[in-house]
Amino acid sequence: MMQGIAGYQFNNWAQTYSSSPELFFQPANAEEVKQILDLARQRGKRVKVIGGGHSPSDIACTGDFMIQLDKMNRILEVDAEKRQVTVEAGIFLGDLNEELAQHGLALSNLGAVGEVSAAGILGTGTHNTGIEHGILPTQVVALTLMTASGEILLCSHSVNEEIFQAARLHLGCLGVILTVTFQCQAAFRLLEQQFPSTLSEVLDNLDLHLKKSEYFRFLWFPHTEYVRIIYQDRTDKPVMNKSSWLWSYGIGYHLLEFLLWISTFLPRLLPWINWTFFKLLFSDRVSRVDRSDKIFTYECLFKQHVQDWSIPIGQTKEALLQLKSWLEGNPAVVAHYPVEVRFTQADAILLSPCYQRDSCYMNIIMYRPYGKDVQRDEYWSAYEDIMKKVGGRPHWAKAHRCSREDFQRMYPSFQKFCSIRETLDPAGMFLNPYLEKVFF
Ligand SMILES: Cc1cc2nc3c(=O)[nH]c(=O)nc-3n(C[C@H](O)[C@H](O)[C@H](O)COP(=O)(O)OP(=O)(O)OC[C@H]3O[C@@H](n4cnc5c(N)ncnc54)[C@H](O)[C@@H]3O)c2cc1C
Repeated sequence: MMQGIAGYQFNNWAQTYSSSPELFFQPANAEEVKQILDLARQRGKRVKVIGGGHSPSDIACTGDFMIQLDKMNRILEVDAEKRQVTVEAGIFLGDLNEELAQHGLALSNLGAVGEVSAAGILGTGTHNTGIEHGILPTQVVALTLMTASGEILLCSHSVNEEIFQAARLHLGCLGVILTVTFQCQAAFRLLEQQFPSTLSEVLDNLDLHLKKSEYFRFLWFPHTEYVRIIYQDRTDKPVMNKSSWLWSYGIGYHLLEFLLWISTFLPRLLPWINWTFFKLLFSDRVSRVDRSDKIFTYECLFKQHVQDWSIPIGQTKEALLQLKSWLEGNPAVVAHYPVEVRFTQADAILLSPCYQRDSCYMNIIMYRPYGKDVQRDEYWSAYEDIMKKVGGRPHWAKAHRCSREDFQRMYPSFQKFCSIRETLDPAGMFLNPYLEKVFF
């Protein structure tokens, strides 16, 4: 019989949310997962499964039963002909990338970090950039799901198709994802080129940039006109990787954290900090070549608060100019760099922020220097207002103040998702306070 551990404390990566589950479980197979669900049903407990705990919100928190699938992290099958790989849902993408490389395969797109699980990225709809690429869950061609009753459902484009389109962005509320099948491609290297520009240049030539680079994104430095453009494109060139000495020795990191901390007492320093760091670290041209996953992922050094809404791609210029003009009109409010702007293809996943529309994601952050929270309410509200006005939908993992009414307005298939959830989990075993705000 599966034993749970008492006294476990869960903290998300940014240490912005935590919870103390009554019992913590690390099952090694589907049978053990079923035993946990049986026990939860008998005792009237709720259940939350966690992946890498990287969501910057309370979406993975619970006071009841918590399951971690770190013992369910194996590769189950590699279909070399179809270039598909089936994995247990707890595998971290960083580990999967290493295994794929040995088979001459790779995922076509990845988020910024590797310590996220196969089921975790489906939980909140992790995305990167590239207008010919969807959010990461679009690379999933099949999955298995254990529902609240203990039944295992196979879902794909041809079996349980509706549930599949719900489960590819499941919010952790449909059951326990047990396995995931990814469509991969032949391994490839990427050439990354970074160079400086200005906000008006990049916004005026957006279509050109989108055509020029497969994985185009840019970073805007608020309170300035400066932009850092990042192109990532397939290449046959050999690996060439050299990073700035300021970052390599951690000097830039320590200096920035210290200055950000100082600016919590002297907020008016912030525009100067953004300007100086752009000049110091982001105003030159650099390029490197590496295995695709090593270019997509990088070490995110700073703990931070973050919002990341997706808006219709045609609204990119309008939304950014509105944000810039709002900051100019409110000089007492400060914004940390960067505002990261990425682009993603439309899809058919019911709760995908890119559902039925090509999208631009606009990610804003406020760091927590030495763990100190920085005043962000006004900036957050202004940003949210702009995002809502231009038809935005928030990233499910990140901060937002939306409720069921908002989601009903934003998602044409919200009701369909709710019906699927209510059928698969009529007693609400997989709910938690975050999800109650979404569904009630
Ligand atoms: C440093 C950093 C960088 C990031 N970069 C990006 C980025 O580039 N792009 C982006 O879009 N996001 C990014 N994120 C957010 C991150 O991709 C998402 O939060 C992602 O969901 C995290 O995966 P995880 O494995 O940590 O999931 P968790 O945070 O542990 O869980 C996410 C959700 O999935 C559920 N879940 C997990 N496993 C299962 C399972 N087996 N069955 C059922 N439910 C399950 C959880 O209950 C929860 O609802 C970043 C976050 C951090 C901290």
